[in-house]
Amino acid sequence: MRYLSKLVGLGFLFLFSNSLVADQIPNKIKIGILSKYSPDTVHIIAKNSRIQYSGKNSLEKDKTILVRAEEDQIRIIYGAKNSRSEHILFSGGEYELEVPKDQTPKKYSGDLEIISSKGKLKLILTVPLEEYVQIGMTSEFGDLFYPKNEKDLNPNWKQEYLIVASAMIRSYALANLGRHSKEGHDLCDLTHCLQFSGKLKKENIQFSPSKKILLQDKSGKVLETFFHSTCGGNLSSPSVLWKNFKNPQYYRSGPDTKGGEIQCRNSPYFSWETFISKEEMETALQAKQLTELEPKYSESRVTSLDYKDYSGKKNIQASEFLSKIGKLLGWNKTKSNDFKIEISTRGFYLKGKGFGHGIGLCQYGAREMAFRDAKSEEILHFYFPGAELRPIQ
Ligand SMILES: [Zn+2]
Ligand SMILES: [Zn+2]
Repeated sequence: MRYLSKLVGLGFLFLFSNSLVADQIPNKIKIGILSKYSPDTVHIIAKNSRIQYSGKNSLEKDKTILVRAEEDQIRIIYGAKNSRSEHILFSGGEYELEVPKDQTPKKYSGDLEIISSKGKLKLILTVPLEEYVQIGMTSEFGDLFYPKNEKDLNPNWKQEYLIVASAMIRSYALANLGRHSKEGHDLCDLTHCLQFSGKLKKENIQFSPSKKILLQDKSGKVLETFFHSTCGGNLSSPSVLWKNFKNPQYYRSGPDTKGGEIQCRNSPYFSWETFISKEEMETALQAKQLTELEPKYSESRVTSLDYKDYSGKKNIQASEFLSKIGKLLGWNKTKSNDFKIEISTRGFYLKGKGFGHGIGLCQYGAREMAFRDAKSEEILHFYFPGAELRPIQ
């Protein structure tokens, strides 16, 4: 699900580009959290945290506070007391946050600042970079660390794969640092940037890479390390999605094979098939009497589709097409932009490969390499040919 929404998001966005060179690695990173709710109220249980607002400053062991947006200020309520302030800052503690739309508590640690903008709360969490990398890695790679069958695998595969996965999150985050600078933070917590689920769970604390690597280009600029679940055997150049993409040479395109075998062939998402009825397709495309639907390809990825209805011939970009289908029929309906269409009288059979955009590192393919004794460096060089791997402290 997250891979397709990422694909759609990528298709619509113009590329953010910053020129962070690897020498300027920050210790901390600012994340806009609870982005998908844009709440006007948040209920906070703060533990062992210093709390500052309106000239007040106190260290609190356990405090429950309600914060509500009021235009460009916030109202801070606890017990029978309440006051207005520009912002509130919690430092160094642990927090459980609840919003009206979703009352399951969400756990975070770090420094948390809350301000209000136009009646909505903005919650900005500052965390150490490596903690962000570890949390981001479990959010984005999670299940891949738990293969169904670990028998006969290279015993070091997990450590090598951890180095690879953490290098993906670290490099991608640093290449996109400041993407949300207008909103006062670096990255959001959604697939638009990278998924960030909050606090590291106990069982994931063991997931610490023994080597920290940053990928950079020849000029020393951090490489934007795109990744996806499963390429379906067909890695795609970034220039398939973005015509004017600079430096596509750092991303492998073409077959994801080693020794003649497709590396992600054991992925549960390797191939997929789905049926969309004529009525559903007409609703999604807002078309009437749809008679033709023909994908246009670049490197076997669909870039746009031609269709014909009662009012004549039309064309739709693939990202917009996938977004319309996703919104109407669910984000799992079409899993990638690598598919063919067969038309029947009842509707459309989509037969596809892989999960996601196919750019950069294939998560299942890279894991297969690790299963088969490849070192992290070999895996990174395979998916990002020509990139420099810079060890960091
Ligand atoms: Zn974002
Ligand atoms: Zn693959």
